[in-house]
Amino acid sequence: MASATDTVSAGSTARDKVVTRFAPSPTGFLHIGGARTALFNWLYARHHGGTYLLRIEDTDRARSTDAAIDAIFDGLEWLGLGGDEPAVFQFARSDRHAEVAHKLLEAGHAYRCYLTQEELAARRELAQAERRPFRIDSEWRDATPDHWPADQSYVVRMKAPREGETTIVDKVQGSITVQNSELDDFIILRSDGTPTYMLAVVVDDHDMGVTHVIRGDDHINNAFRQLVIIRGMHAIEGGWPDPVYAHIPLIHGADGAKLSKRHGALGVDAYRDEMGLLPEAVFNYLLRLGWGHGDEEIISREQAVAWFDIGDVNKGASRFDLKKLLNLNGHYIREADDARLAALVAPRLATLAPGFAPDKGLDLLTRAMPVLKVRAADINELAAGSVFLFAQRPLAMAEKAASLLTDDARAILTKVAGVLEAENVWTTEVLEATVKQMAEELGIGLGKIAQPLRASLTGQTTSPGIFDVLALLGKDESLSRIRDQAA
Ligand code: GLU
Repeated sequence: MASATDTVSAGSTARDKVVTRFAPSPTGFLHIGGARTALFNWLYARHHGGTYLLRIEDTDRARSTDAAIDAIFDGLEWLGLGGDEPAVFQFARSDRHAEVAHKLLEAGHAYRCYLTQEELAARRELAQAERRPFRIDSEWRDATPDHWPADQSYVVRMKAPREGETTIVDKVQGSITVQNSELDDFIILRSDGTPTYMLAVVVDDHDMGVTHVIRGDDHINNAFRQLVIIRGMHAIEGGWPDPVYAHIPLIHGADGAKLSKRHGALGVDAYRDEMGLLPEAVFNYLLRLGWGHGDEEIISREQAVAWFDIGDVNKGASRFDLKKLLNLNGHYIREADDARLAALVAPRLATLAPGFAPDKGLDLLTRAMPVLKVRAADINELAAGSVFLFAQRPLAMAEKAASLLTDDARAILTKVAGVLEAENVWTTEVLEATVKQMAEELGIGLGKIAQPLRASLTGQTTSPGIFDVLALLGKDESLSRIRDQAA
C-alpha cells in the first residue's frame, strides 16, 4: 500500500498531456450543473492542448435510459462540448473492472468479506445504540484462505488504510485532509461479482489516461476512497499515478437554496427548445458561473480557452441567475448572423404564423432580422415579433390596435395610401421622409399617422420602426393592408 501519510498534488502527478473527462450518469437529462462540469473539463483540456473525453456511467441499469443518453449527447453537441473521441460506456467494461478487483484481491489490497446482511445490520444497530459512528470492522480482512467458508457468497472489500491521514491538494478546494481511520473498507465487487461504481470510475479513468478529474464537489468523499484503489494498483503494477483533482462547487438558486426547476434550472434541451436560447449565450453564462476573468462579462470561446484556469474557479457555490442568462442571450442574438436566426425562428412559425411558407418566407424573415433582433431576448421573442410579416389579410386586429382605428384615423390612412401609392423608391429612409413631409403638410404630429399605420400594417400597437415595417412588407402588401383599414 501507499505510505500512510500521502499527499496528492499537481506537481507530483503531472504527466505530459492533459486528459480530462466528463462522466455523466444517464439517469436524467443533461442539466445545467452537468453542462458546466463538461465545460470546465473541455476548457481545461483546450487550454492545455490536451484531450477531453466523455464517459457514460450507465452502470445503474435500472435508472439509465437511452433517452437520457441521447439528450446528453445532443445537449453537449449543441454547446460545442462533444468529446474528442467516441464516448466510453462504463457498463460494457464490467469485465475489466472485475479483472482489476481480482488483481487487488490477489495482491492482498482487497479481501473477500463474508459478513452477511444480518450481521452488518446487527452491528449497525449496536453502534447506534452505543452512539458511536458505525465502521465496517470485518474479521475477514485478514482471514486466510483456509478460513473461507465454502458455498457462501462474499463481497470484495478494499483494505483501506487505518492509520495516518490522506491529503488531497484539490485545485479548487485547496488542501483537504482526512484521517485514514475515517475510511471504511468499501466494496469493489458485489456478491454477484458485479463491480461497484467506486471501482469502475477509477479503472476507467486509468484506462482512459485521465490526468485531471474535474467534477462536482459532491464527489470529494469518493476521491479519498478512489485513491485507495489507485494506490493499491500502483503498488501492484505501477503506472497508476494519482490524478489531479478539482472539485467544483454546486450551483445554487438565486435564493441560495439547492438549484431546482423552481429557479429556472432545466435540462439543456429546454434552454434551446422552450426558452429559445443560443448555445453561445449558455456557454458564456455557464463559464461565468463560478469563474471569472476580471470584470469581463462577454467572453468568446477563444478568449475562454486562452484565459481559463481551473485554479480560478470559486470555492463557494455559485448562484444561478436567469435574468443574467437572458441578458446575455439578448446580446448574442444581436450579434448573430441573420440567416442563422431566421432558420432558428422558422420552425416556430409553423404554429404562430400559418401564412409562413419556409420556401418563400425565409428570405423575408432574414431581411427582417436586423430590425427584429434589437428588440428580442430569445428566439421565441424573435418569432413572436416576426408574425406580422406573414399575417394574412385582412389582418386580425389586437384590441388596442382596433381601438386606434377611429374614423379620423381611417381617413388619415386613406390619405397615406394615396401618398405612398405615388412613391416609387421603397426604402426605409425615403418612406420616412415622405411620411414626415405628409405630416408637416397636414399640420399633424407624426404619431397621428404612425399609430394607425402601425395598426393597419401589423395588427398591433408595438412593432419595429414603422418605416422598416413598410420597407419589409413591400409596396403592394403595405398598400393592401393600409387600404383594408382605410375609410
Ligand atoms: N457519474 C458521476 C455523476 O454523474 C460522475 C462521476 C465522476 O465524475 O467521477 O455524478
